[in-house]
Amino acid sequence: MTFSALGLCDDLVRAADELGFEQPTPVQAAAIPVILRGGDLWASAKTGSGKTAAFVLPLLQSFSARPPSSHRPIPVWALLLVPTRELALQTAEAIRVLGARLSRPPKTCVALGGLSINPQMMALRGGADMVVATPGRLLDLVAHNAIVLSSVETLVLDEADRLLSSGFAAELASVRALLPARCRKLLFSATFPPAVRALAADLLNEPAQINIDAGALPDAAAIVQRAISVDADRRTGLLERLVRTNDWSRVLVFVATKYATEHVAMKLRRADLSAAALHGELSQGTRTAALADFKRRHLRILVATDLAARGLDIDDLAAVVNYDLPRSSADYLHRIGRTGRAGDSGVAISFVSASTEAHFDLIERRHRLRIAREVITDFRPTAVAVLPQHPHGGVKGKRRTKKDKLREAAARQRNKQ
Ligand code: AMP
Repeated sequence: MTFSALGLCDDLVRAADELGFEQPTPVQAAAIPVILRGGDLWASAKTGSGKTAAFVLPLLQSFSARPPSSHRPIPVWALLLVPTRELALQTAEAIRVLGARLSRPPKTCVALGGLSINPQMMALRGGADMVVATPGRLLDLVAHNAIVLSSVETLVLDEADRLLSSGFAAELASVRALLPARCRKLLFSATFPPAVRALAADLLNEPAQINIDAGALPDAAAIVQRAISVDADRRTGLLERLVRTNDWSRVLVFVATKYATEHVAMKLRRADLSAAALHGELSQGTRTAALADFKRRHLRILVATDLAARGLDIDDLAAVVNYDLPRSSADYLHRIGRTGRAGDSGVAISFVSASTEAHFDLIERRHRLRIAREVITDFRPTAVAVLPQHPHGGVKGKRRTKKDKLREAAARQRNKQ
C-alpha cells in the first residue's frame, strides 16, 4: 500500500516521504480514504500508530483540492480540538510540515491558553483555514469576536475520549453549539472508555468506524513493561540508579502532583542528573522550553504530571517511569505509549509500593496483564503490601481532577456571561 494509492497528491506524498513515512500505517491506510470520501468517522488505534497524519494528510488533500477561488482563508474551514497546549503546538507543526510542499498551504492558526491572547487574535484576522485549539482558549477567542465557527466544515477531536470526559463537557457543548449542523466530525483516540462511548455516539452521525487494536497495550516487542517493588520513600534513589545503570539518554517520569514534579526534579538535579519539571501551573514559556530541551536532548529527565501523557511524540524515548501510578488503566496505556512509537522499542517501568500494590493489581487486571514484581538490590522493600479487599473498585479513571473542576467552573462562568 502506498500513500498515492490512498488518493493523496504528489506534493503530500513527497512531504510524507521526506519525513521517512515510507508507507501508510494501518490507521492511515484505513482512515485516509474514509476521510477523503466525507462523512463522520470514529477511529481508535494504538498510541504511536500515526493517528495525527491519518487526519492531517486527508484534510490537507481535501483543502488543496478546493477550487482556487475558495483559497482565500475563510473564517474557519477545519477545527482541530486537542486537550493540551503541547499537543496543539505539535499538531500545528505536523500540518505545517506535511503541507509544506503544497502550492497553497492552508493558513493555520493555534488557539491555546497560557499565552497572551492578542497575538492569537491578530493571527486570526481575515480568517484561517485550519485552527488547532484547546477548548478554553477557543471559547475566549469567540467571546472576543476574534473567531467565527459558523463555516467550519470539519471538526477533529484528537484524544477524543479526554475531550468528551466530564472535565471538558461544558466547553465542548459550547463549541458544538457554535458549529453549523452540517459540520462533519472525526474522532481519534487510543482509548474510548465505556463512560464516553455514548457521548461519542451522540456526537457522530452514522460514522464510519475504524478500530485497530484500540485499547490494547502496545506490543511486547515495542514496549517492555516492568514493575519494581520499592518503598515509597526510596523511589528517587531507585530512579537515579536505573537512569545510571541503564545509561538512558532520556527518560520521562510520571508523578501524581505538580509539587512532586518539582520535588523529584530538584532531588535528581542534586544527584547531578539534568532534570526539569513539567506541569500545568508553570508558565507556558517554561512548559514549552522544558519540552523543547527534552526533545533536543539538552535534558535527560523530564518529570511530568499526566499533562504529558496524551499524544506527545518524543523521538526515540528510551524509557517511561511511573514513579507514581496513573489514576486509571487508560492513563496507564497513554503514559507508556510515549515510548515504543512508530516501530521503535522502549521500556515502561512502574514503581509499586505496599500501599499502591492493590491499585496496580487493578490496572493489570483491566489490561488482562500480569507483570512480575522485581526487586532491585539495595532497594528491597521493607513495607508489606496490603492485598486488595474489593477487587472491583479502586481505579480512579472517572474521578475529576482539580484541573477538570477549574475548567468546569470557568465554562459555567463563561455561559453566564
Ligand atoms: P502519532 O501517533 O501521530 O503521534 O505518530 C507517531 C509517530 O509515528 C510520529 O513520530 C510520526 O512522525 C510517525 N509516523 C506517522 N506516520 C508514519 C508512517 N507512515 N511511517 C513512519 N512513521 C510514521
